[in-house]
Amino acid sequence: MKFPEKIKTFCRKCGAHTEHTVRQDRKGKERTMNRGRRKYEEVKKGYGGSPRTPKKEVHKVGKRVVLLLKCATCGFKHQRRYDARTKKAVEVAS
Ligand SMILES: [Zn+2]
Repeated sequence: MKFPEKIKTFCRKCGAHTEHTVRQDRKGKERTMNRGRRKYEEVKKGYGGSPRTPKKEVHKVGKRVVLLLKCATCGFKHQRRYDARTKKAVEVAS
């Protein structure tokens, strides 16, 4: 899937169509000391093991595309999601 480097789309902070730079958005690194992680480690401690059933490994063919759009005028960032899964590599080029 190919996407252009710059697109003109609506910015909800400017309230108008402005130029946006396009980038593929990726999941950030999880913080090791977040609330849920700390609690989960506490529950997992000692005799008894994990309270959650282990997740089944599912292999999906495609991936969902999430683009990060940045407004050139005000710098506001927002995401654009494509709900269909793509089998081809995502490419942002002019
Ligand atoms: Zn803007």
